Amino acid sequence: MKAKKTKGFKKNLSFYRINFSFQPPYQLVFDGNFIKQMLDHNVDLDKQLFKHTKAKIWKHTTICVLRELTSLQHLFPRVFKYAQGLSKINCKHIEGVSPAECLLDIVKPKPEFGGDNNYFWVCTQDDELRSNLLQIDHVPVCYLFQNNLFEMAEPSRTCKMRIKSLKEIKYLPNEQEQQIIMPIKKEIKQQQAEKRMERERKLAQELAIKIKKPAKGPNPLSVKKKLGKVTKSIKKRRHKIKNKKTRRSNKQGVNNEIIEQNS
Ligand SMILES: [Zn+2]
Repeated sequence: MKAKKTKGFKKNLSFYRINFSFQPPYQLVFDGNFIKQMLDHNVDLDKQLFKHTKAKIWKHTTICVLRELTSLQHLFPRVFKYAQGLSKINCKHIEGVSPAECLLDIVKPKPEFGGDNNYFWVCTQDDELRSNLLQIDHVPVCYLFQNNLFEMAEPSRTCKMRIKSLKEIKYLPNEQEQQIIMPIKKEIKQQQAEKRMERERKLAQELAIKIKKPAKGPNPLSVKKKLGKVTKSIKKRRHKIKNKKTRRSNKQGVNNEIIEQNS
């Protein structure tokens, strides 16, 4: 079967690799219902895992999971047989506990191992167990999505928040560093303020010079508009008519005078 692409696998794996130093070969631990789902849907897990991780994988189960499958082998012989072929983690639950309790216990940080004992990805189809496992920050939880796609669950919101605040603390300067940084910061601020003031002073000077300078040329609003050719010819004609009228009226005036004198 062709391995389809899952949405969040690579992103979630990077989160665990970066923040919890998960490195190949990756160690996967299976419970009974995951194995059953995988076999029922003929999932080629090795192919999917290689496609997503390009790394070597070790597959495990626990003594408690195997104990339960032994008691159910008459119902699920294939599942039991598959589990038998896996490497067995010695969970040290001598009395035996349920597979869910066992898996939750083996991934919990153990002080005797410096609290950093988890290298397992837990693969389960049990929703409740998955949700409980995600409460422990450093546990990648895997399952088969849509029956046959191997997927890694998104880390819980609490886990993401915790990592974020840890990173913020990590990159904040400590008290000694603060003592060195503060005077430098103060000096830089002062230099910046001086530069800004100098810039503003220069700008003010430039503006003052510009205001004092007389305006170049006459005010464009007071300049007479140049007359166009058409306007000029109209004016000329009007002038000629006016002159003619004046001359005619002058002539008439002279004639009248002569008539008066003759009479
Ligand atoms: Zn156990």
